[in-house]
Amino acid sequence: MTFQQIKNILNDNTPQSVEDLAQEAAKLSRRQFGGAISLYGPLYLSNFCSSHCTYCGFNSHHKIERIKLAPHQYRNEMQFIHAQGLRNILMLTGESYKHTPVSYLKEAALIASEYFQGIALEAHPMETFEYKELFTAGVDGIAVYQETYDRARYAQVHLSGRKKDYDFRYATAYRAAEAGMRHISLGILLGLSDPVYDTFALYQHLRELEKSFPGVEYSVSFPRLRTVKTASLASCDVNDVQFVKIIALTRLLFPRMGINLSTREEPKLRDHLLEIGITRMSAGSNTSVGGYTLLEKKAQDPQFDTKDGRSVDEIVKSLKSRNFDPVFTDWRHIENGL
Ligand code: SF4
Repeated sequence: MTFQQIKNILNDNTPQSVEDLAQEAAKLSRRQFGGAISLYGPLYLSNFCSSHCTYCGFNSHHKIERIKLAPHQYRNEMQFIHAQGLRNILMLTGESYKHTPVSYLKEAALIASEYFQGIALEAHPMETFEYKELFTAGVDGIAVYQETYDRARYAQVHLSGRKKDYDFRYATAYRAAEAGMRHISLGILLGLSDPVYDTFALYQHLRELEKSFPGVEYSVSFPRLRTVKTASLASCDVNDVQFVKIIALTRLLFPRMGINLSTREEPKLRDHLLEIGITRMSAGSNTSVGGYTLLEKKAQDPQFDTKDGRSVDEIVKSLKSRNFDPVFTDWRHIENGL
């Protein structure tokens, strides 16, 4: 589909066209995935970051308490997430090569393997050999979002640090795939730049990757900018209708692709988006380092404020009541064969 075609679809806000798009996507989602919805829990390991991204509460210029969890502390957090029933974990850090080197992430992965079947990582972009090490330690997926594909806008909001390097970030998914990662998640931060252009460019990125590494399972995320205690750039001009259409169009163009949704969105909208194309969602989330077991709420500095505060049990009940099947384990780690 050309840029102009995507633009026409995403800019057509007549109620009938929105409804038609959403219904077509909903039918296709049910046909491809049944009602399976994978659940995962995010775990923030560290908020040290050497990059300055204007939209993020963890950026190096914000005066927040910097914390890096020690092994006994993240083990407690893992046990907490595990006790809620979750078996897939997404470990996150700020982007600091110094504070969260591969050795630190490897140790976290090895401990996570005691509790979780699926271990994904969202940390600083690495080289292929580093991803290989992490893969061997049990990490089976990575998330790396370009945030925006508009190079000029990218330069405006990524002021310093490694994240400033657009091309290195763009090529991260290729390096992770070369290293053998099973699952790779890409995404854009809606509200940073023109959503039509970014959506189109994200689709191109995915198509390129699918061609180069057809064996990898890809998924996409469309986080929208949200307020955080410390961030000044915290608005979002992508409204709910546009958001629904982006999810629906993604489903129609990528019928088998996973689409992730975090707790940035309100429960009502999350529930609606499930019908249209979401296949994977976080549950019972806390976006602060040590937020589950270490720090009291008022001492926490979240990366973003969550809007869906339902527990894992509540989400499971809600899914079942609407004929979805919550999935806790869709993958089990065996020998990597490296
Ligand atoms: S978005 Fe990532 S790299 Fe940028 S400031 Fe936040 S944690 Fe650091």
